Amino acid sequence: MDPFADTLQRLREAFRSGQTQAADFRATQLKGLGRFLRENKQLLQDALAQDLHKSAFESEVSEIRMSQGEVNLALKNLRAWMKDEKVPRNLATQLDSAFIRKEPFGLVLIIAPWNYPLNLTLVPLVGALAAGNCVVLKPSEISKNMERVLAEVLPRYLDQSCFAVVLGGPEETQQLLENKFDYIFFTGSPRVGKIVMAAAAKHLTPVTLELGGKNPCYVDDDCDPQTVANRVVWFRCFNTGQTCVAPDYVLCSRETQERLLPAMQSAITRFYGEDPKSSPDLGRIIGEKQFRRLQGLLGCGRVAIGGQSDESERYIAPTVLVDVQETEPVMQEEIFGPILPIVNVRGLDEAVDFITRREKPLTLYAFSNNSQVIKRVLAGTSSGGFCGNDGFMHVTLTTLPFGGVGASGMGRYHGKFSFDTFSHHRACLLHAPGMEKIYAIRYPPYSPRNQRL
Ligand code: NAD
Repeated sequence: MDPFADTLQRLREAFRSGQTQAADFRATQLKGLGRFLRENKQLLQDALAQDLHKSAFESEVSEIRMSQGEVNLALKNLRAWMKDEKVPRNLATQLDSAFIRKEPFGLVLIIAPWNYPLNLTLVPLVGALAAGNCVVLKPSEISKNMERVLAEVLPRYLDQSCFAVVLGGPEETQQLLENKFDYIFFTGSPRVGKIVMAAAAKHLTPVTLELGGKNPCYVDDDCDPQTVANRVVWFRCFNTGQTCVAPDYVLCSRETQERLLPAMQSAITRFYGEDPKSSPDLGRIIGEKQFRRLQGLLGCGRVAIGGQSDESERYIAPTVLVDVQETEPVMQEEIFGPILPIVNVRGLDEAVDFITRREKPLTLYAFSNNSQVIKRVLAGTSSGGFCGNDGFMHVTLTTLPFGGVGASGMGRYHGKFSFDTFSHHRACLLHAPGMEKIYAIRYPPYSPRNQRL
Protein backbone atom coordinates (compact mmCIF):
# COMPACT_ATOMS: atom_id res chain seq x y z
CA MET A 1 0.00 0.00 0.00
CA ASP A 2 1.49 3.35 -1.09
CA PRO A 3 0.91 5.88 1.74
CA PHE A 4 1.31 8.76 -0.74
CA ALA A 5 -1.15 7.49 -3.37
CA ASP A 6 -4.19 9.52 -2.26
CA THR A 7 -2.25 12.78 -1.94
CA LEU A 8 -0.62 12.39 -5.33
CA GLN A 9 -3.90 11.44 -6.97
CA ARG A 10 -5.56 14.55 -5.50
CA LEU A 11 -2.78 16.81 -6.81
CA ARG A 12 -2.80 15.20 -10.26
CA GLU A 13 -6.54 15.75 -10.56
CA ALA A 14 -6.14 19.37 -9.49
CA PHE A 15 -3.51 19.87 -12.16
CA ARG A 16 -5.69 18.28 -14.82
CA SER A 17 -8.52 20.63 -13.87
CA GLY A 18 -6.33 23.46 -15.23
CA GLN A 19 -6.81 25.70 -12.19
CA THR A 20 -3.07 26.24 -11.62
CA GLN A 21 -2.62 27.62 -15.15
CA ALA A 22 -4.36 30.94 -14.52
CA ALA A 23 -2.11 33.88 -13.73
CA ASP A 24 -4.44 35.00 -10.92
CA PHE A 25 -4.28 31.60 -9.27
CA ARG A 26 -0.48 31.61 -9.39
CA ALA A 27 -0.35 35.15 -8.01
CA THR A 28 -2.64 34.15 -5.14
CA GLN A 29 -0.28 31.30 -4.20
CA LEU A 30 2.74 33.61 -4.32
CA LYS A 31 0.94 36.19 -2.17
CA GLY A 32 0.18 33.36 0.25
CA LEU A 33 3.89 32.56 0.47
CA GLY A 34 4.63 36.23 1.14
CA ARG A 35 2.06 36.34 3.94
CA PHE A 36 3.43 33.10 5.40
CA LEU A 37 6.87 34.73 5.65
CA ARG A 38 5.60 38.02 7.07
CA GLU A 39 3.07 36.68 9.56
CA ASN A 40 5.31 33.92 10.95
CA LYS A 41 8.65 35.68 11.12
CA GLN A 42 9.19 35.01 14.82
CA LEU A 43 8.07 31.39 14.51
CA LEU A 44 10.51 30.88 11.63
CA GLN A 45 13.37 32.54 13.49
CA ASP A 46 12.64 30.42 16.57
CA ALA A 47 12.66 27.22 14.51
CA LEU A 48 15.99 28.18 12.91
CA ALA A 49 17.43 29.00 16.34
CA GLN A 50 16.24 25.67 17.75
CA ASP A 51 17.53 23.62 14.83
CA LEU A 52 20.81 25.38 14.10
CA HIS A 53 21.31 27.98 16.83
CA LYS A 54 21.10 30.38 13.90
CA SER A 55 21.42 34.04 14.87
CA ALA A 56 18.50 36.36 14.10
CA PHE A 57 20.68 38.27 11.62
CA GLU A 58 21.71 35.18 9.64
CA SER A 59 18.12 33.88 9.68
CA GLU A 60 16.85 37.20 8.43
CA VAL A 61 19.32 37.74 5.58
CA SER A 62 19.91 34.21 4.33
CA GLU A 63 16.53 32.59 4.90
CA ILE A 64 13.60 34.98 5.33
CA ARG A 65 14.71 37.96 3.25
CA MET A 66 16.05 35.86 0.37
CA SER A 67 12.78 33.90 0.23
CA GLN A 68 10.71 37.09 0.43
CA GLY A 69 12.83 38.67 -2.31
CA GLU A 70 12.11 35.74 -4.61
CA VAL A 71 8.37 35.96 -3.87
CA ASN A 72 8.33 39.70 -4.64
CA LEU A 73 10.33 39.28 -7.84
CA ALA A 74 8.07 36.49 -9.11
CA LEU A 75 4.92 38.48 -8.29
CA LYS A 76 6.26 41.56 -10.08
CA ASN A 77 7.27 39.65 -13.21
CA LEU A 78 4.78 36.79 -13.30
CA ARG A 79 2.76 37.93 -16.31
CA ALA A 80 5.86 38.91 -18.29
CA TRP A 81 7.50 35.52 -17.57
CA MET A 82 4.32 33.68 -18.58
CA LYS A 83 4.07 35.44 -21.95
CA ASP A 84 4.77 33.48 -25.12
CA GLU A 85 8.27 34.26 -26.32
CA LYS A 86 8.27 35.18 -30.01
CA VAL A 87 11.26 33.85 -31.98
CA PRO A 88 12.76 34.86 -35.36
CA ARG A 89 11.48 32.89 -38.38
CA ASN A 90 13.13 31.49 -41.53
CA LEU A 91 12.04 32.01 -45.13
CA ALA A 92 9.60 29.10 -45.13
CA THR A 93 7.82 30.34 -41.97
CA GLN A 94 7.77 34.08 -42.67
CA LEU A 95 3.98 34.21 -42.60
CA ASP A 96 3.63 32.06 -39.50
CA SER A 97 3.61 32.69 -35.81
CA ALA A 98 6.59 31.08 -34.00
CA PHE A 99 6.94 31.21 -30.24
CA ILE A 100 8.01 29.38 -27.10
CA ARG A 101 5.21 28.70 -24.65
CA LYS A 102 6.18 28.16 -20.99
CA GLU A 103 4.00 25.35 -19.73
CA PRO A 104 3.93 23.89 -16.23
CA PHE A 105 5.28 20.33 -16.06
CA GLY A 106 2.43 19.12 -13.84
CA LEU A 107 3.20 17.45 -10.53
CA VAL A 108 6.54 18.57 -9.10
CA LEU A 109 8.46 17.08 -6.18
CA ILE A 110 10.82 19.32 -4.18
CA ILE A 111 13.19 17.58 -1.76
CA ALA A 112 15.10 19.87 0.60
CA PRO A 113 18.09 19.59 2.96
CA TRP A 114 18.44 20.84 6.54
CA ASN A 115 21.13 23.52 6.35
CA TYR A 116 18.96 26.40 5.05
CA PRO A 117 15.69 24.61 5.73
CA LEU A 118 13.48 27.58 4.87
CA ASN A 119 15.35 29.13 1.92
CA LEU A 120 15.98 25.81 0.16
CA THR A 121 12.32 24.83 0.32
CA LEU A 122 10.69 28.22 -0.28
CA VAL A 123 12.89 29.49 -3.13
CA PRO A 124 12.29 26.44 -5.38
CA LEU A 125 8.64 26.49 -4.32
CA VAL A 126 8.28 30.07 -5.60
CA GLY A 127 9.52 28.94 -9.03
CA ALA A 128 7.33 25.83 -9.11
CA LEU A 129 4.14 27.71 -8.15
CA ALA A 130 4.86 30.69 -10.41
CA ALA A 131 5.24 28.26 -13.29
CA GLY A 132 1.78 26.83 -12.54
CA ASN A 133 2.65 23.40 -11.15
CA CYS A 134 1.16 21.35 -8.35
CA VAL A 135 3.79 20.68 -5.71
CA VAL A 136 4.75 18.02 -3.19
CA LEU A 137 7.27 19.39 -0.72
CA LYS A 138 9.52 17.03 1.24
CA PRO A 139 11.45 19.03 3.87
CA SER A 140 14.43 17.56 5.71
CA GLU A 141 13.55 15.44 8.74
CA ILE A 142 16.81 16.56 10.38
CA SER A 143 15.85 20.24 10.82
CA LYS A 144 12.80 19.04 12.71
CA ASN A 145 11.53 22.33 14.11
CA MET A 146 11.40 23.91 10.66
CA GLU A 147 9.94 20.67 9.29
CA ARG A 148 7.06 21.08 11.76
CA VAL A 149 6.41 24.71 10.77
CA LEU A 150 6.45 23.82 7.07
CA ALA A 151 4.08 20.90 7.60
CA GLU A 152 1.65 22.60 9.98
CA VAL A 153 1.64 26.29 9.09
CA LEU A 154 2.68 26.70 5.45
CA PRO A 155 -0.23 24.73 3.91
CA ARG A 156 -2.71 27.18 5.50
CA TYR A 157 -1.40 29.85 3.13
CA LEU A 158 -1.67 27.80 -0.08
CA ASP A 159 -4.43 26.10 -2.02
CA GLN A 160 -4.37 22.63 -0.51
CA SER A 161 -5.80 20.96 -3.58
CA CYS A 162 -2.56 21.82 -5.40
CA PHE A 163 0.04 21.64 -2.67
CA ALA A 164 1.08 19.08 -0.05
CA VAL A 165 3.88 18.61 2.43
CA VAL A 166 4.99 15.03 3.02
CA LEU A 167 7.25 14.02 5.87
CA GLY A 168 9.92 11.41 6.32
CA GLY A 169 13.56 10.40 6.16
CA PRO A 170 15.49 8.26 3.66
CA GLU A 171 13.10 5.30 3.71
CA GLU A 172 9.93 7.35 3.19
CA THR A 173 11.62 9.51 0.56
CA GLN A 174 12.63 6.45 -1.43
CA GLN A 175 9.07 5.15 -1.22
CA LEU A 176 7.81 8.54 -2.40
CA LEU A 177 10.27 8.45 -5.29
CA GLU A 178 8.77 5.21 -6.59
CA ASN A 179 5.86 7.34 -7.76
CA LYS A 180 5.88 9.15 -11.06
CA PHE A 181 6.44 12.91 -10.91
CA ASP A 182 6.69 15.30 -13.84
CA TYR A 183 9.72 17.09 -12.41
CA ILE A 184 11.97 16.52 -9.40
CA PHE A 185 13.99 19.31 -7.80
CA PHE A 186 16.47 17.92 -5.28
CA THR A 187 18.89 19.79 -3.02
CA GLY A 188 21.29 17.70 -0.96
CA SER A 189 24.37 15.52 -1.09
CA PRO A 190 25.82 13.97 -4.26
CA ARG A 191 25.28 10.52 -2.68
CA VAL A 192 21.52 11.00 -2.35
CA GLY A 193 21.45 12.91 -5.64
CA LYS A 194 22.40 9.66 -7.38
CA ILE A 195 19.55 7.82 -5.63
CA VAL A 196 17.09 10.51 -6.73
CA MET A 197 18.33 10.51 -10.31
CA ALA A 198 18.18 6.71 -10.54
CA ALA A 199 14.57 6.76 -9.24
CA ALA A 200 13.65 9.55 -11.69
CA ALA A 201 15.19 7.61 -14.59
CA LYS A 202 12.65 4.82 -14.10
CA HIS A 203 9.89 7.27 -15.07
CA LEU A 204 12.03 9.40 -17.42
CA THR A 205 11.37 12.30 -15.06
CA PRO A 206 13.61 15.36 -15.57
CA VAL A 207 15.59 16.51 -12.54
CA THR A 208 17.43 19.46 -11.14
CA LEU A 209 20.13 18.35 -8.72
CA GLU A 210 21.55 21.03 -6.43
CA LEU A 211 24.45 19.19 -4.82
CA GLY A 212 27.56 19.96 -2.82
CA GLY A 213 31.28 19.30 -2.89
CA LYS A 214 34.55 21.01 -2.06
CA ASN A 215 34.74 24.69 -3.02
CA PRO A 216 38.34 25.86 -3.53
CA CYS A 217 39.46 29.33 -2.50
CA TYR A 218 42.68 30.51 -4.15
CA VAL A 219 44.51 33.35 -2.37
CA ASP A 220 47.19 35.08 -4.42
CA ASP A 221 50.39 36.48 -2.87
CA ASP A 222 49.29 39.92 -4.09
CA CYS A 223 46.48 40.50 -1.59
CA ASP A 224 45.63 42.32 1.61
CA PRO A 225 45.69 39.45 4.15
CA GLN A 226 43.30 41.10 6.62
CA THR A 227 40.66 41.79 3.99
CA VAL A 228 40.91 38.23 2.68
CA ALA A 229 40.84 36.79 6.21
CA ASN A 230 37.72 38.81 7.16
CA ARG A 231 35.82 37.61 4.10
CA VAL A 232 36.96 33.99 4.15
CA VAL A 233 36.40 33.54 7.90
CA TRP A 234 32.95 35.11 7.73
CA PHE A 235 31.81 32.94 4.86
CA ARG A 236 33.41 29.80 6.32
CA CYS A 237 31.66 30.35 9.68
CA PHE A 238 28.32 31.68 8.37
CA ASN A 239 25.68 29.14 9.45
CA THR A 240 28.55 27.41 11.30
CA GLY A 241 30.09 26.41 7.99
CA GLN A 242 27.03 24.35 7.04
CA THR A 243 26.70 26.08 3.68
CA CYS A 244 26.99 24.38 0.30
CA VAL A 245 28.75 27.41 -1.21
CA ALA A 246 31.16 28.05 1.68
CA PRO A 247 34.88 28.12 0.83
CA ASP A 248 35.93 24.55 1.71
CA TYR A 249 39.71 24.95 1.60
CA VAL A 250 42.30 27.65 0.88
CA LEU A 251 45.04 27.24 -1.70
CA CYS A 252 47.98 29.62 -1.24
CA SER A 253 51.75 29.80 -0.95
CA ARG A 254 53.40 29.09 2.40
CA GLU A 255 54.40 32.78 2.65
CA THR A 256 50.80 33.94 2.16
CA GLN A 257 49.65 31.33 4.69
CA GLU A 258 51.97 32.89 7.30
CA ARG A 259 50.43 36.32 6.61
CA LEU A 260 46.90 34.95 6.62
CA LEU A 261 47.04 33.03 9.92
CA PRO A 262 47.37 36.02 12.32
CA ALA A 263 44.82 37.91 10.21
CA MET A 264 42.36 34.98 10.47
CA GLN A 265 42.91 34.73 14.23
CA SER A 266 42.23 38.45 14.49
CA ALA A 267 39.04 38.14 12.39
CA ILE A 268 37.74 35.24 14.52
CA THR A 269 38.36 37.17 17.76
CA ARG A 270 36.72 40.33 16.41
CA PHE A 271 33.69 38.42 15.09
CA TYR A 272 33.13 35.94 17.93
CA GLY A 273 35.16 37.24 20.90
CA GLU A 274 37.92 35.53 22.93
CA ASP A 275 35.55 32.63 23.64
CA PRO A 276 33.63 31.92 20.42
CA LYS A 277 31.55 29.29 22.24
CA SER A 278 29.72 32.02 24.14
CA SER A 279 29.11 34.14 21.04
CA PRO A 280 25.43 34.50 20.12
CA ASP A 281 26.54 34.81 16.49
CA LEU A 282 28.09 31.38 16.09
CA GLY A 283 25.71 28.49 15.56
CA ARG A 284 25.91 24.81 16.38
CA ILE A 285 26.20 21.63 14.32
CA ILE A 286 22.78 20.28 13.39
CA GLY A 287 23.07 16.76 14.86
CA GLU A 288 25.25 14.24 16.66
CA LYS A 289 26.18 12.27 13.55
CA GLN A 290 27.32 15.41 11.74
CA PHE A 291 29.16 16.61 14.89
CA ARG A 292 31.15 13.37 15.25
CA ARG A 293 32.19 13.43 11.61
CA LEU A 294 33.50 16.99 12.01
CA GLN A 295 35.24 16.14 15.28
CA GLY A 296 37.08 13.41 13.37
CA LEU A 297 38.25 15.96 10.79
CA LEU A 298 39.91 18.06 13.53
CA GLY A 299 42.59 15.36 13.66
CA CYS A 300 43.78 16.07 10.11
CA GLY A 301 46.97 18.09 9.51
CA ARG A 302 47.95 20.47 12.35
CA VAL A 303 45.60 22.83 14.19
CA ALA A 304 46.84 26.40 13.69
CA ILE A 305 43.73 28.16 15.08
CA GLY A 306 40.88 26.83 17.23
CA GLY A 307 40.40 23.06 17.30
CA GLN A 308 38.14 22.94 20.40
CA SER A 309 34.86 21.05 20.43
CA ASP A 310 32.10 20.21 22.92
CA GLU A 311 29.82 17.30 22.17
CA SER A 312 27.21 18.27 24.77
CA GLU A 313 26.45 21.43 22.76
CA ARG A 314 27.57 20.14 19.35
CA TYR A 315 30.03 23.05 19.33
CA ILE A 316 33.01 23.20 16.99
CA ALA A 317 35.32 26.22 17.29
CA PRO A 318 36.27 28.17 14.17
CA THR A 319 39.34 26.18 13.16
CA VAL A 320 42.16 26.54 10.66
CA LEU A 321 44.26 23.48 9.78
CA VAL A 322 47.68 23.60 8.12
CA ASP A 323 50.16 20.94 6.85
CA VAL A 324 47.21 19.02 5.49
CA GLN A 325 47.79 16.09 3.13
CA GLU A 326 45.60 15.69 0.04
CA THR A 327 44.88 12.11 1.07
CA GLU A 328 43.44 13.04 4.50
CA PRO A 329 39.65 12.93 4.98
CA VAL A 330 39.45 16.72 5.39
CA MET A 331 40.62 17.03 1.78
CA GLN A 332 38.54 14.10 0.52
CA GLU A 333 35.03 14.96 1.73
CA GLU A 334 32.94 18.13 1.83
CA ILE A 335 33.66 19.66 5.27
CA PHE A 336 30.31 21.37 6.01
CA GLY A 337 31.45 22.90 9.30
CA PRO A 338 33.61 25.78 10.62
CA ILE A 339 36.90 24.05 9.74
CA LEU A 340 39.20 25.50 7.08
CA PRO A 341 42.27 23.61 5.85
CA ILE A 342 45.04 25.48 4.04
CA VAL A 343 46.88 23.62 1.29
CA ASN A 344 50.14 25.10 0.02
CA VAL A 345 50.75 25.58 -3.69
CA ARG A 346 53.67 27.29 -5.41
CA GLY A 347 51.59 29.72 -7.46
CA LEU A 348 48.65 30.16 -9.74
CA ASP A 349 49.44 27.39 -12.23
CA GLU A 350 49.78 24.79 -9.49
CA ALA A 351 46.52 26.01 -7.92
CA VAL A 352 44.65 25.72 -11.22
CA ASP A 353 46.13 22.25 -11.73
CA PHE A 354 45.03 21.24 -8.20
CA ILE A 355 41.48 22.45 -8.86
CA THR A 356 41.08 20.93 -12.32
CA ARG A 357 42.29 17.50 -11.18
CA ARG A 358 39.21 17.32 -8.93
CA GLU A 359 35.45 17.22 -9.47
CA LYS A 360 33.97 20.49 -10.68
CA PRO A 361 32.91 22.44 -7.57
CA LEU A 362 29.66 24.28 -6.88
CA THR A 363 31.59 27.54 -6.47
CA LEU A 364 35.13 28.73 -6.81
CA TYR A 365 36.72 31.72 -5.09
CA ALA A 366 39.84 33.65 -6.00
CA PHE A 367 41.37 36.56 -4.08
CA SER A 368 43.95 38.90 -5.59
CA ASN A 369 44.65 42.62 -6.00
CA ASN A 370 45.61 41.78 -9.57
CA SER A 371 42.54 41.41 -11.77
CA GLN A 372 44.57 39.39 -14.30
CA VAL A 373 45.06 36.68 -11.69
CA ILE A 374 41.31 36.48 -11.04
CA LYS A 375 40.65 36.26 -14.79
CA ARG A 376 43.23 33.49 -15.19
CA VAL A 377 41.64 31.41 -12.43
CA LEU A 378 38.23 31.96 -14.04
CA ALA A 379 39.50 31.00 -17.51
CA GLY A 380 41.50 27.96 -16.38
CA THR A 381 38.77 26.25 -14.34
CA SER A 382 35.08 25.33 -14.35
CA SER A 383 32.53 25.48 -11.52
CA GLY A 384 28.82 26.10 -10.94
CA GLY A 385 29.48 29.71 -9.93
CA PHE A 386 32.48 31.96 -9.41
CA CYS A 387 33.18 34.87 -7.13
CA GLY A 388 36.32 37.01 -7.22
CA ASN A 389 37.51 38.74 -4.04
CA ASP A 390 34.53 37.76 -1.92
CA GLY A 391 32.57 34.86 -0.46
CA PHE A 392 29.19 33.74 -1.73
CA MET A 393 27.83 37.18 -2.69
CA HIS A 394 27.12 35.97 -6.23
CA VAL A 395 24.34 33.82 -4.74
CA THR A 396 22.46 36.93 -3.61
CA LEU A 397 21.94 38.10 -7.21
CA THR A 398 18.70 36.81 -8.66
CA THR A 399 19.96 37.86 -12.10
CA LEU A 400 22.58 35.09 -11.92
CA PRO A 401 21.67 31.41 -12.27
CA PHE A 402 22.44 29.27 -9.23
CA GLY A 403 23.46 25.65 -9.71
CA GLY A 404 26.28 23.18 -10.07
CA VAL A 405 28.12 21.49 -12.90
CA GLY A 406 29.44 17.93 -13.08
CA ALA A 407 29.49 16.35 -9.62
CA SER A 408 28.13 19.52 -7.99
CA GLY A 409 24.82 19.20 -9.79
CA MET A 410 22.78 19.98 -12.85
CA GLY A 411 20.23 22.66 -13.62
CA ARG A 412 19.85 26.17 -12.28
CA TYR A 413 17.37 28.39 -10.44
CA HIS A 414 16.80 31.74 -8.65
CA GLY A 415 14.77 34.58 -10.14
CA LYS A 416 13.56 33.96 -13.68
CA PHE A 417 15.83 30.90 -13.91
CA SER A 418 13.51 29.22 -11.36
CA PHE A 419 10.43 29.96 -13.45
CA ASP A 420 12.15 28.58 -16.55
CA THR A 421 13.39 25.49 -14.69
CA PHE A 422 9.87 24.56 -13.64
CA SER A 423 8.41 25.25 -17.11
CA HIS A 424 8.46 23.08 -20.17
CA HIS A 425 9.56 25.24 -23.11
CA ARG A 426 7.12 24.18 -25.79
CA ALA A 427 8.15 24.92 -29.37
CA CYS A 428 5.10 26.25 -31.22
CA LEU A 429 4.56 27.16 -34.86
CA LEU A 430 1.13 28.29 -36.06
CA HIS A 431 1.16 27.87 -39.80
CA ALA A 432 -1.20 29.57 -42.25
CA PRO A 433 -3.90 27.17 -43.47
CA GLY A 434 -3.90 28.49 -47.07
CA MET A 435 -1.41 29.18 -49.86
CA GLU A 436 -1.09 25.51 -50.64
CA LYS A 437 0.14 26.25 -54.14
CA ILE A 438 3.28 27.88 -52.79
CA TYR A 439 3.92 25.15 -50.23
CA ALA A 440 3.36 22.41 -52.79
CA ILE A 441 6.91 23.08 -53.99
CA ARG A 442 8.20 20.82 -51.15
CA TYR A 443 6.26 17.66 -52.03
CA PRO A 444 7.40 14.60 -54.04
CA PRO A 445 8.01 13.57 -56.66
CA TYR A 446 11.30 15.35 -55.95
CA SER A 447 12.96 17.00 -58.93
CA PRO A 448 15.70 19.59 -59.55
CA ARG A 449 13.05 22.15 -58.62
CA ASN A 450 13.01 20.81 -55.00
CA GLN A 451 16.82 20.94 -54.80
CA ARG A 452 16.68 24.75 -55.08
CA LEU A 453 14.75 25.04 -51.81
P1 NAD B 1 21.05 14.71 2.15
O1 NAD B 1 21.39 14.37 0.75
O2 NAD B 1 21.46 13.76 3.22
O3 NAD B 1 19.47 14.92 2.33
C1 NAD B 1 18.72 15.74 1.47
C2 NAD B 1 17.28 15.23 1.42
O4 NAD B 1 17.27 13.89 0.94
C3 NAD B 1 16.56 15.22 2.76
O5 NAD B 1 15.23 15.68 2.57
C4 NAD B 1 16.57 13.76 3.17
O6 NAD B 1 15.42 13.38 3.89
C5 NAD B 1 16.61 13.02 1.86
N1 NAD B 1 17.40 11.78 1.93
C6 NAD B 1 18.47 11.52 2.73
N2 NAD B 1 18.94 10.28 2.51
C7 NAD B 1 18.16 9.74 1.56
C8 NAD B 1 18.13 8.46 0.92
N3 NAD B 1 19.02 7.52 1.22
N4 NAD B 1 17.18 8.25 -0.02
C9 NAD B 1 16.28 9.20 -0.35
N5 NAD B 1 16.25 10.41 0.24
C10 NAD B 1 17.18 10.69 1.19
O7 NAD B 1 21.68 16.16 2.39
P2 NAD B 1 21.70 17.01 3.72
O8 NAD B 1 22.62 16.34 4.71
O9 NAD B 1 20.33 17.35 4.15
O10 NAD B 1 22.38 18.36 3.20
C11 NAD B 1 23.75 18.51 3.06
C12 NAD B 1 24.18 18.34 1.62
O11 NAD B 1 23.39 19.14 0.76
C13 NAD B 1 25.61 18.82 1.38
O12 NAD B 1 26.26 17.96 0.49
C14 NAD B 1 25.42 20.19 0.76
O13 NAD B 1 26.51 20.62 -0.01
C15 NAD B 1 24.22 19.95 -0.07
N6 NAD B 1 23.55 21.20 -0.34
C16 NAD B 1 23.54 21.70 -1.60
C17 NAD B 1 22.96 22.91 -1.86
C18 NAD B 1 22.90 23.50 -3.22
O14 NAD B 1 22.13 24.44 -3.40
N7 NAD B 1 23.66 23.02 -4.19
C19 NAD B 1 22.36 23.63 -0.80
C20 NAD B 1 22.40 23.08 0.47
C21 NAD B 1 22.98 21.88 0.70
